[in-house]
Parts: sequence; structure tokens; C-alpha cells
Amino acid sequence: MRTKIIAGNWKMNKTLEEGQALVTEIRGIVRDEHTGKSQVVLCPPFISLASAARLLEGTGIALGAQNCHFEDSGAFTGEISPLMVKSTGAQYVIIGHSERRQYFGETGEMLFKKTKAAIRHGLKVIFCVGESLKEREEKIFFKVVESQLQEGLFALDRKEFSSVVIAYEPVWAIGTGLTATPEQAQEMHNYIRKVIGMHYTEEIAEETTILYGGSMKPDNAAGLMAQADIDGGLIGGAALKARDFADIIKAVG
Ligand code: PEP
Repeated sequence: MRTKIIAGNWKMNKTLEEGQALVTEIRGIVRDEHTGKSQVVLCPPFISLASAARLLEGTGIALGAQNCHFEDSGAFTGEISPLMVKSTGAQYVIIGHSERRQYFGETGEMLFKKTKAAIRHGLKVIFCVGESLKEREEKIFFKVVESQLQEGLFALDRKEFSSVVIAYEPVWAIGTGLTATPEQAQEMHNYIRKVIGMHYTEEIAEETTILYGGSMKPDNAAGLMAQADIDGGLIGGAALKARDFADIIKAVG
């Protein structure tokens, strides 16, 4: 059985105080309503990690960062290392979000180094892949996603790869209100699983959690989750509203 995961990517939102309030609200709802069958992960900005870790102690809710550098320490002004992320109490880190690729020029080579370093420090990596609208229209989306997997992940050995969760996030669906249809998402998730099977083993592919991300909301989550290869969601906008996030958690189960 694959682990189902619902991860909230807060992006660059919430001050320290606002973040603590949101963690506290989500913690309360999850305690009262969650079946505990899936793993909830909160990914606030770096400034909130340590305080969120304290608020989440003993709740079963996990914590993740949204990025990290590949070195442990050094002259990299403004960066945060995986060792530092780990020291806050976080267990996960998102790597390769399309906003990092697009606005901060992160390349496949850098993302591989980040992923490898994060895993070396015992973090689980939520690795994002996804095509742009142009690439979808040009019908090269399978090829694009396959090369993102190849560059960012496939030089990991099997043991390292077992710390990876994939998030398929079509760029045209992120923050736009447009969602991939359950069929479009399933088609890509199934493809990703096949490619993993070809590079590692079918058993590893079967065990890999593949999340969908891109305008996932309470009203479309159940349809997406009904697909055989969708194992949860990476949620942006809706993760900032405790009630919406909790309703998505319910749909995931
Ligand atoms: C994201 O940024 O990972 C994301 C899926 O955003 P949204 O849910 O807002 O589309």
C-alpha cells in the first residue's frame, strides 16, 4: 500500500504570528476530523518551521520546507541548507517547484544536487514536475516530464529514491483555477509510474507516492483521488484556509 499524502505549500505567505495561528487551526481540525489514514504535511516559509514543529509535536502532522540549498553550510547568502531544515524538526522538503524553476532559474542539475543532499540529511523530498501550457498544447508533455524526472532524480540509487515523493503539477493549473481533469492527471500519473518502473523496478514504481497539484480544491479533490495512480495532493491556495485544506484531507481519506 502506498502512503497517501496531502501537503500544503504555503508559498511566500503568512507572517510568523499568522503562521502559528494557521498551524493551530489546522491542528485542531485534523485532531477532530482526520482518520489518520493519510499523512498530512505542512510546508510554511522557513521562518515558521521551528515554531510550527513545536506546535505539531505529537499530532502526527509532518512538516516540510519549500526549498533548500545543496551545501551544508557556507558563503551562500540568503540560502538555507538541508541540515538547517532538518534541525528545525522538519521531515520533508519540496524540491523543483515550477516557481523555483521559472523565477529562480533552478535547473535539473541543481535540483538533483538539492535532492541528493536533502536525502543525505534524512529528509523526504517532494519532487515537482510538470509541463507548461505551451508544452501541453504542443503535445510534448510526456517528454518534458520524463526529462525532468531523468535530470532531477534518476541518478539516485534505489535506497535514495525510496525517500522521494513525486508531485505532478501542470504549470498551467497552478494558481490559475484551471485543474487538470481527473483523466488528464491519471494519464500522466500512470506514465510517471511506468517511467519509474523502467528506471528502477515495477515494485518501486508501485510503492512511489505520486501527488497531484494544481488548483486542487474541496470540490475537485474527490474526483482526482478516485483515480488509480493519484495518491494525494500538493495544495497551494487552498492550504491557506484551514477549512478548505481539511475538506481536501477528508477527500483524500
Ligand atoms: C502549488 O503551488 O504547488 C499549487 C498546487 O498551487 P495551487 O493549489 O494554488 O494551484
